[in-house]
Amino acid sequence: MAHDFDLYVIGAGSGGVRAARFAAGFGAKVAVAESRYLGGTCVNVGCVPKKLLVYGAHFAEDFEQASGFGWSLDEAQFDWATLIANKDREINRLNGIYRNLLVNSGVTLHEGHAKIVDPHTVEINGERFTAKNILIATGGWPQIPEIPGHEHAISSNQAFFLKELPKRVLVVGGGYIAVEFAGIFHGLGAQTTLLYRGELFLRGFDGSVRKHLQEELTKRGMDLQFNADIERIDKQADGSLKVTLKDGRQLEADCVFYATGRRPMLDNLGLENTGVKLDKKGFVEVDDQYQTAEPSILALGDVIGRVQLTPVALAEGMAVARRLFKPEQYRPVDYKMIPTAVFSLPNIGTVGLTEEEARDAGHEVVIYESRFRPMKLTLTECQERTLMKLVVDAKTDKVLGCHMVGPEAGEIVQGLAIALKAGATKRDFDETIGVHPTAAEEFVTMRTPVAG
Ligand code: FAD
Ligand code: NDP
Repeated sequence: MAHDFDLYVIGAGSGGVRAARFAAGFGAKVAVAESRYLGGTCVNVGCVPKKLLVYGAHFAEDFEQASGFGWSLDEAQFDWATLIANKDREINRLNGIYRNLLVNSGVTLHEGHAKIVDPHTVEINGERFTAKNILIATGGWPQIPEIPGHEHAISSNQAFFLKELPKRVLVVGGGYIAVEFAGIFHGLGAQTTLLYRGELFLRGFDGSVRKHLQEELTKRGMDLQFNADIERIDKQADGSLKVTLKDGRQLEADCVFYATGRRPMLDNLGLENTGVKLDKKGFVEVDDQYQTAEPSILALGDVIGRVQLTPVALAEGMAVARRLFKPEQYRPVDYKMIPTAVFSLPNIGTVGLTEEEARDAGHEVVIYESRFRPMKLTLTECQERTLMKLVVDAKTDKVLGCHMVGPEAGEIVQGLAIALKAGATKRDFDETIGVHPTAAEEFVTMRTPVAG
């Protein structure tokens, strides 16, 4: 039976756009539906605007440190409205670029909410289209626990559009978004408290990294409260929020920001009209080639809940396009050695196994660690320290993991990820000539193990 399209992609985010463009490039007839914003979460309410706000927050330190280099400035003033307006302008520009990318690669764009009505048919804006394959690339959505008063809390979706910078912010959560936004609010001058329910935030990251970031944020004056969780939020007559913790303490804030994970976006998608199955956590279940339990329907990106990062969604999009329309070029996505950064202030950059993961996996490990004051700070009062750590397999000498907390950690770790993917040994690191004077050279000059 002839279909309207070879591939109908639902969601023009990181993964959907990549799959659609490459499928069209391979000669397929492709449509993409988008209900909100071209470019998806990353471009509109994720990576891109977040990084712009992190840059904005970082200026606070730059101004402080400039005096050590002989600069004097009148007291620096910050205007949130200007930052948000400029950010919005840039995002609008990127939305236009995404539109052009799709249209110029021959993809048909349908703007509206798409619903699957049967395994080969999608309905959008009252029209129905058939497709040989449907790709669910609908991403995720912030999840706020339904405690009394949760309606007074905001998520990252709203944080990017606040009319003004709140004076007192309570950030709830201990993952990427909580740590990044606590850094943004704190850097921009809000009195910021981060509340995390566990012993120490950033579960899953290397223990030294978590501890180091805790120390650095505390030095900067951020209020970190661990083993703390909210019982209820009450709005007071003056508009401020009274927050009652489970241990009975009460805090006041102007904004409560929840960053407690993201659920798959499946609202009114029509999965009940298909044989698509969900996994235990509610994400779309797929096999190793992104096929759902319904043979004509595939899924990728945040909605499958594997690794919720844009470059991973891009790699999955590429794999799906190749698998369907260029099978001779198909290569599975390698989920090992995925580098990642947390754009906290200071940044975390990491690739490979943490010390804990390496030991749990049965490796005998040698640990190298270096902590130092970045050269740029030697002329300033700032006491920030950088951490670099290598986890090495004692038997094979392979570097299993690289971890860093410090300026530009994300930039530095990208290059190290190539080395680790290529199987570099500690000896390869030692024999690599450093770039001097940089912080990054420390990764090739660590000679004395701190633990075995
Ligand atoms: P999305 O990008 O979410 O795209 C899904 C699209 O589908 C959306 O545009 C949505 O409107 C659309 N859609 C949903 N349902 C329908 C429907 N029924 N019909 C039509 N359209 C629909 N990752 C990084 O790698 N680095 C970062 O620094 C980073 N920072 C982040 C910061 C924040 C605050 C957040 C929230 C996320 C961040 N991420 C980051 C994660 C990254 O944004 C996601 O992993 C990535 O966007 C996932 O891509 P996706 O294609 O799966 O989904
Ligand atoms: P994460 O899964 O990273 O973190 C969620 C945090 O919320 C955890 O600390 C978790 O605690 C806590 N939590 C979960 N449920 C509750 C609850 N009911 N009450 C209190 N605390 C709770 O999610 P995020 O929302 O931070 O980010 C979503 C994903 O987006 C990230 O995992 C990442 O993949 C991606 N992202 C990537 C970024 C980057 O690359 N720089 C930046 C931002 C997002 P516990 O650890 O105890 O479970």
